Amino acid sequence: MTPGTESLIRLDRQYLWHPFTQMKGWCDPAYEPLVLVEGDGAILRDSEGREYIDGNSSIWTNVHGHRHPAITAAMKAQLDKVAHVSFLGTTNEPAIRLAEKLVNLLPAGDYSRVFFTDNGSTAIEVAVKMTLQYWQLIGRPERNRFVAFDNAYHGDTVGAASLGGVSAFTQRFAPVHFAIERVDSTDALARLDANSIAAIIIEPMVQGAAGIRLWPEGTLRRLREWCDAHEVLLILDEVLTGFGRTGKMFACQHDGVRADFLCLAKGLTGGYVPLAATLTNESIYSAFLGEYQDLKTLFYGHSFCGNPVGCAAALASLEVFEQEETLRHLGEKITYLSELLSRVRQNAYVFEIRQCGFIAGIEVRQPDGTAFEWTSQTGARICQRAREYGLLTRPVLDTLVFMPPYCITREQMDAAFVALNQAILDIC
Ligand code: PLP
Repeated sequence: MTPGTESLIRLDRQYLWHPFTQMKGWCDPAYEPLVLVEGDGAILRDSEGREYIDGNSSIWTNVHGHRHPAITAAMKAQLDKVAHVSFLGTTNEPAIRLAEKLVNLLPAGDYSRVFFTDNGSTAIEVAVKMTLQYWQLIGRPERNRFVAFDNAYHGDTVGAASLGGVSAFTQRFAPVHFAIERVDSTDALARLDANSIAAIIIEPMVQGAAGIRLWPEGTLRRLREWCDAHEVLLILDEVLTGFGRTGKMFACQHDGVRADFLCLAKGLTGGYVPLAATLTNESIYSAFLGEYQDLKTLFYGHSFCGNPVGCAAALASLEVFEQEETLRHLGEKITYLSELLSRVRQNAYVFEIRQCGFIAGIEVRQPDGTAFEWTSQTGARICQRAREYGLLTRPVLDTLVFMPPYCITREQMDAAFVALNQAILDIC
């Protein structure tokens, strides 16, 4: 290791606390954290000059690859004008243009208003607060409970985490979470007292942090029907699935389902800078209109709402989708991913393959189907080994996740699967 890298790692271990990371293991001299310095398409380079395939799109955010010239140029051009201005009381052109663009990406009338925040969790918080206030404003305050699914993940802020169903992430914070109704399927909705339900939230098509778990066909349509029948609002969390991941721009487009709130983040800026958006419709928006003294205002916001650099990046990313016909090319890569997955399925330790568009989960178990002891951290050790073969990714327990940037080449996909296959054999 070069002295430069060594000194950075020493300082990191001295001053930093990383997310979702057991810092004792991170600081163990046997573990070598990577200092990433550069990206280029689907490739990341570390401070030692080693290259890796970005196998999870830098925590599911990157869409077109790193350092796309059009996105970089748009951000630089905006930085040359102004980096940030307040969205409370003033506005800016990139935010205006992006809001118009987002609304028009979806079927006419489905959404008409965009509320910008900074990340996936806050996109959810906005939907939660708008929902509660909406029911109060229209004189139905008894509708104040939320429904979420088992194993759901909607973010880590207290509100978003209240809706989460992965107990390892939520259990400790339960005393400050709000109570919700939890269901394991759309069939379970029948036993709810719908009259007190304000909204139901779902990750459409696939639950990501649950380990890439796909919903049965028709789930979203059934959910929409139930919501319509019982006047319950539907919140779609497309933080992971939005911007092409499932093969269409948004997962809800596979079923043609309209939500009352559509929450977007991660890939919104192409994964370049933090930005999130919560879209809703005119009927909800108009309930908040009134005189100041009516106190119908949504008293919610963050310092960086509508940040113009983020909005410029998002506009550029959406333009890349059009110019490069990204979704058409992605279709071919999704097919190739299926081919690679069916090959890796031959590995005796691969128990199940779960694919949703350009998202793949590869669950490893003992050849007889028994799960590995969770304390053995098999998934994590496989990913650690794959790193030595030039692939960066993170598992969810023993499900290895592969969801690279859409610009990844066939050769890079081949190399990623050679790395994964070998790493599984080495560790299991
Ligand atoms: N919702 C889903 C479906 C997610 O996958 C995530 C993050 O992984 C979030 C919400 C939270 O997003 P963020 O990490 O930007 O707060």
